[in-house]
Amino acid sequence: MDIQELRDIVRECGIAGAGGAGFPSYAKLDQKADTILLNCAECEPLLKVHRQLLQKYPYEIMSTLQLIADVLEVKEVIIGVKEAYEKTVNAARTYLSFFSKLSLSLLKEIYPMGDEVQLIYETLGKVVPPGSIPLEVGVVVFNVETIYNIYCAVNQKAPVSAKYLTIAGAVKNPITVLAPIGMAVEDLVELAGGATAGEPAYIMGGPMTGEVVAPYDTVTKTTNAILVFPKNHPVVLQKQGSTSIDMKKAMASCCQCEMCTDLCPRNQLGHPITPHLFMRAATSGTTQKLDPFLSTMFCCSCGLCEMYACPQGLAPRKLITEYKNGLRRKGIPIPKGVPLKPVNQMREYRTVPMERLISRLGLSEYNVDAPLTEETIPAKQVRIKLNMHIGAGAVPVVHKGDIVQPGDLIAKAEEGKLSLPVHASIAGEVLEINDMEILVRAR
Ligand code: SF4
Ligand code: SF4
Repeated sequence: MDIQELRDIVRECGIAGAGGAGFPSYAKLDQKADTILLNCAECEPLLKVHRQLLQKYPYEIMSTLQLIADVLEVKEVIIGVKEAYEKTVNAARTYLSFFSKLSLSLLKEIYPMGDEVQLIYETLGKVVPPGSIPLEVGVVVFNVETIYNIYCAVNQKAPVSAKYLTIAGAVKNPITVLAPIGMAVEDLVELAGGATAGEPAYIMGGPMTGEVVAPYDTVTKTTNAILVFPKNHPVVLQKQGSTSIDMKKAMASCCQCEMCTDLCPRNQLGHPITPHLFMRAATSGTTQKLDPFLSTMFCCSCGLCEMYACPQGLAPRKLITEYKNGLRRKGIPIPKGVPLKPVNQMREYRTVPMERLISRLGLSEYNVDAPLTEETIPAKQVRIKLNMHIGAGAVPVVHKGDIVQPGDLIAKAEEGKLSLPVHASIAGEVLEINDMEILVRAR
C-alpha cells in the first residue's frame, strides 16, 4: 500500500480524530513525520474508552500502527499509555515483540497527560512551539479509537458510523458502549440504567473540557463520554455561569495570586500563556499591552486554572476562551514565531495527580469501572451532523424518503477542501435533511 492509497481509504471511510477537535485523519498521514505517537493517556476523569479498546484489540491496533509506520516510512512508533492501566499495558506487551518499530512509554497518572503537547514532551522530551502542530517537531499523534477505525477501514472497508463512549456519573450502571452516531444523549443514558440524580444535567465529554448539553443533543464522531451529574454539582455550576458574571466576579476578587499561571501546563512548558496577566488586563480594561490578549491563542482549554487552581473559584479558562473566540471571529491569526521560554524547572512539582483532581472535583463517588460492551444498540432514530470534524462540512447525497443501511454514504466530502464524508449509522428512512444534519428513523 502507498501513502495515497491509505489516505484515500481513511478519507472515504470518514475517519476524524475520535476525540478532541476531530481533525480529518487522512490529512495527518504525512511523510514529514519521523515518529508516530499513540495517545492512550485518556486523562479526563471518569472516561474509560481508549484503555479498554487497546486492552481488547491490541493486535489490531498495533498492526495498524506498524502498517502506517511502514507506509509513511516512519522510524518509530511509541505507545503512550498510563502505567496505572495495568491490563492495557499487559495486553500491549503481549504483542510488542511482533512489531519492530513499536515501543511502550509508560506515563504518570497526571492531568492533562492526554494533551498532545504534554504527551510529546513526556514521551520524547520535545516541546511543540507555541501555535504549531506536532508535525513541526516530526511527530504525528493518533488516539486509540482513531487507529482502530483505520484498522476497520483498511481491513473491512468499514466507514465510521458508531462511536465508543463512556456513560458515567450519576447513573445506575456506568458503561462503555459503541453507540450509533446521531443517537440522543437521553436515550444513551438509559443504556446505563438511567440517571440516579433527581434533576440531572448532562455533560458531553470529560468533566474538565466537556460541555453541558441538552438531553436531545446527539453523539458525534468526537464524543468520548456522556456524564450525568445532579444539576447543582460543582462541575456543572462551574461550566454554566455566564461570562459577564464571571468577569464581574474576577473584577471583584482576582487577587493576582498567580496560582492559575503556576499550574498552567502550557506555561510550565515555556508557552507564552499567563492566565493571571490576562485576568489583570481583562479586569482592568488595560489595552496598552496586547500580549495578554493575544496569548489567549496559546491556551489549550485544559481547564486546570479554573477547575483546580484558582482559590477564588474564578473562571480564567472561560474568559480566555471568550477572548480567543473573539479574535478568531475577527480573523486574527495565531501569532507565529513567538519565542519559547525554557521549560520551568519546577514543572514536575506542579503537575496535578489524577486522584487529587478527582477528589477536588467532587467525583470520587463516580470514579468506578464502566465496562465495555459492543452489543448492538437499537436506536429509534438518529440525527447525524454534517460537520463533525475540522474543515468543510459534508454535502448530502440522499433525499427525503430514501432507505439507508448502516455504513451507506449519506453525505459526501466537499471536493478540494479539508472535509470528510458522513455515513448512515442505522437502517431506516431519511426523514429530514437540513444544512446541519440528516434525520434517519429506524424502520
Ligand atoms: S488563580 Fe484566580 S485569583 Fe489567582 S490570579 Fe488566577 S484568576 Fe486570579
Ligand atoms: S485552560 Fe488555563 S491552565 Fe489550561 S492552558 Fe488554558 S490558561 Fe493554561
